[in-house]
Amino acid sequence: MLLSGDQVLKVAAEANFAVPAFNISDYSMMNAVFEICEEKESPHIIAIHPDEVSHIGRYLLPAIIDRARVSSVPTAIHWDHGATFEQALTAIQYGFTSVMIDASMLPFDENVALSRRVAEVAHAVGVSVEAELGTIGKTDGYAEAGTDDIIYTVPDDAVRFVAETGVDSLAVAIGTRHGLYPASLKPELKLDLLDEIDAAVAAPLVLHGGSNNPDDEIGQACRRGINKVNISSDIKVAYFQKMREVLTDTGHREPNVIQPPCQAALKVVAAQKIDLFGAAGKASLYR
Ligand SMILES: [Zn+2]
Repeated sequence: MLLSGDQVLKVAAEANFAVPAFNISDYSMMNAVFEICEEKESPHIIAIHPDEVSHIGRYLLPAIIDRARVSSVPTAIHWDHGATFEQALTAIQYGFTSVMIDASMLPFDENVALSRRVAEVAHAVGVSVEAELGTIGKTDGYAEAGTDDIIYTVPDDAVRFVAETGVDSLAVAIGTRHGLYPASLKPELKLDLLDEIDAAVAAPLVLHGGSNNPDDEIGQACRRGINKVNISSDIKVAYFQKMREVLTDTGHREPNVIQPPCQAALKVVAAQKIDLFGAAGKASLYR
């Protein structure tokens, strides 16, 4: 079931759970994500960052779209952290059903102008738009571009931003960071701030980062207004940690021997996230 981002998130907003958005950048990981979401009967979002799009090339997109169409669970295909208007057009051309325009590093008015421009063209062809207000911090060189520090989302600004841009969902900065956190960093999620934003903003809210925030705080956030959580580092660490173990046997060379245990390791982490977000079994709400 291939849906737009908005179609996937609206149901989550009504039923108070969060849809997992798994970043993938190869066919093996993609298949593992579909299989575990089908097993858990969870709606989900296949997220692909521009760097990942560059890696896989545009010709994997038709395969992902086909896989989503025959899948038993609702799926959106999302361009993660688009940086420019041109990237948004590229995402639409490639068949993505959802696109993020991240102009959060720009001044408020410029963020509004670019996000609104993307929303206008995307909506014309039924593609949903996520934008970001405030700045999600980063922790290491692998994390997406941004500042090290978190600039928390201001509720009044969020109301104005959604009204002026017409975007379908909003990524908020409430105390998560991209990437894996150093041991010295004590993560703190501002759930009170989330409550304020959620009370004021009708659009579904999105959480980026959060790998090392405590599970119970993330779980609470998913019941208090967060309707999409991005998952990248956690599933990739599980996948490649298992691959390192498998490859200690230097005789292995066949992908159909090396990849299945890695897929299984990815699925364990993905299943735990699906349960944490309250998304297990929620595919039935879309019928
Ligand atoms: Zn992000």
